[in-house]
Amino acid sequence: MKYDYLIVGSGIFGAVCAFELRKLGKKVLVIEKRNHIGGNAYTRDDKGIQIHQYGAHIFHTNDKKIWDYVNELVQFNRFTNSPLAMYKGKLFNLPFNMNTFHQLWGVTTPAAAQAKIIEQRSEMEGKEPQNLEEQAISLVGRDMYETLIKGYTEKQWGRSAKELPAFIIKRLPVRFTYDNNYFTDNYQGIPIGGYTKLFEKLLNGIEVRLNCDYLANKHEFDSMADKVIYTGPIDAYFNYEFGPLEYRSLTFKHEVLQQENFQGNAVINYTECDIPYTRIIEHKHFDPVDTPHTVVTKEYPHDWKVGDEPYYPVNDDRNMALFKKYRELTKKESGVIFGGRLAEYKYYDMHQVVRSALNLINGEC
Ligand SMILES: Cc1cc2nc3c(=O)[nH]c(=O)nc-3n(C[C@H](O)[C@H](O)[C@H](O)COP(=O)(O)OP(=O)(O)OC[C@H]3O[C@@H](n4cnc5c(N)ncnc54)[C@H](O)[C@@H]3O)c2cc1C
Repeated sequence: MKYDYLIVGSGIFGAVCAFELRKLGKKVLVIEKRNHIGGNAYTRDDKGIQIHQYGAHIFHTNDKKIWDYVNELVQFNRFTNSPLAMYKGKLFNLPFNMNTFHQLWGVTTPAAAQAKIIEQRSEMEGKEPQNLEEQAISLVGRDMYETLIKGYTEKQWGRSAKELPAFIIKRLPVRFTYDNNYFTDNYQGIPIGGYTKLFEKLLNGIEVRLNCDYLANKHEFDSMADKVIYTGPIDAYFNYEFGPLEYRSLTFKHEVLQQENFQGNAVINYTECDIPYTRIIEHKHFDPVDTPHTVVTKEYPHDWKVGDEPYYPVNDDRNMALFKKYRELTKKESGVIFGGRLAEYKYYDMHQVVRSALNLINGEC
């Protein structure tokens, strides 16, 4: 065998595994079917602006070890995610906090906001929510549901909120402070100069082959290494033997604008049903740079079919039962380790992926 490990996929899972294995003296080959490293966290440079090619990525964690780990590789800025929501030409702060309640109802004190929410929720008093709409109203009331939740959620899932199960929304955090910081984690930021720098550091000194689809030449690649770490879709690995696992997909439309500042914020959600995109990202606000131009991206959610980019797993009962069948098959694949968001059919944040890859390698070697 030429390599100790073949790693399929250069996203965070694959790149962290490669970095750790190299430190342990293992010979590693990384193959990636795209024409760049970094998986979905990849950023590309547009005349100084770092473009989040596959959607906004903000690193946030409470795990100091993970924060120190990534900061030892590259310098992070202190980006604080404070998105806005646009509904019928009016802006609202997110997450739901005193600013939002003031914008919605004109209330100025926590007591007045709490009283308003209690009054709004009373519509569902004594009733068990039967769908997502009723669940949201029972948690925060109709005004907030119709202005900030309904359209966004229906666009995201491609279905009416009345047809969506209540369990999708377990809780809707509300804050009675004027605090627009979306994440409650102790650490958050963006790598200065983009995420690709982080991947370049992780993969430094490791052989990486781009535009290589493992599944197109599986036998040849398998013969090159003792072990395989596979971070691609689990159903594709087994040639969709039990049928495909369902995802929601997204189309990103990137636009270069000849103006310095388009919307004054990194993220603005569009919560009306009639507007087909869910949000507009203005990339230069993640990692501020002084340029005469700006780049914005509109995010359009849509159904997924085999061949589309899989973004959000649909972890309902049907898909989870299917996933368990595929997971059973992995037990027969000796020498192959399945990890990361696609192989585990799981929504993972980046810090969780780093943690999971470190746990794997620590247990492995
Ligand atoms: C729109 C969106 C926004 C997000 N925002 C955030 C955020 O703000 N903060 C956060 O922490 N997380 C965020 N995430 C989650 C984040 O993207 C994931 O945690 C991370 O990308 C997972 O890394 P991974 O290595 O598991 O998978 P990926 O990044 O998907 O990497 C897998 C790699 O494997 C390659 N591959 C697949 N099949 C093959 C094959 N057959 N042959 C060769 N290569 C193959 C793929 O091309 C890909 O490069 C977001 C996700 C989405 C969808």
